[in-house]
Amino acid sequence: MHAERILEDYYFSTGSRSHEHDYFILKAKKHLNITGEEIIFLIIPSPTKGAVIYGPPKIASKLGLVPKLYRIVFTDTYNNILTQDEKKALIAHEIAHLRYPTNSLSDQIACDKAAVDLVGPENLKSALLKIFIPNNPSFEDNLRLDILDRIQKQGSRP
Ligand SMILES: [Zn+2]
Repeated sequence: MHAERILEDYYFSTGSRSHEHDYFILKAKKHLNITGEEIIFLIIPSPTKGAVIYGPPKIASKLGLVPKLYRIVFTDTYNNILTQDEKKALIAHEIAHLRYPTNSLSDQIACDKAAVDLVGPENLKSALLKIFIPNNPSFEDNLRLDILDRIQKQGSRP
């Protein structure tokens, strides 16, 4: 869609690259057995979407001009309100979308599972709460939170 295309270009041109999670990105890629893709972390000055993974620009990659460069984009708002571990949880979730690429509930849960493996359920849960609550959580959002609750309880059982 045209509007989305413009928004994407805006993200690409205004985001500033942060290296603070480079090591964790490598760790998450290794965990998910993802090789050959470069994933970078960008912070953008915009109040819209919080955490998004972008594939390589389609046309350029078709022409072989750009390596497989993926961008995980956080708004500066989310960058400020999330703890380091919460950010890692979201980064892991987004990287897992390279394996589970759709927005279907089953892919979302698979990506949550990868994040839980890397940072534990409490960090992902608190990150999602910060994002979902102000946006009116959907039925699927609540289901994901319930699953994390259950994993958390299982983990703390004596
Ligand atoms: Zn997702």
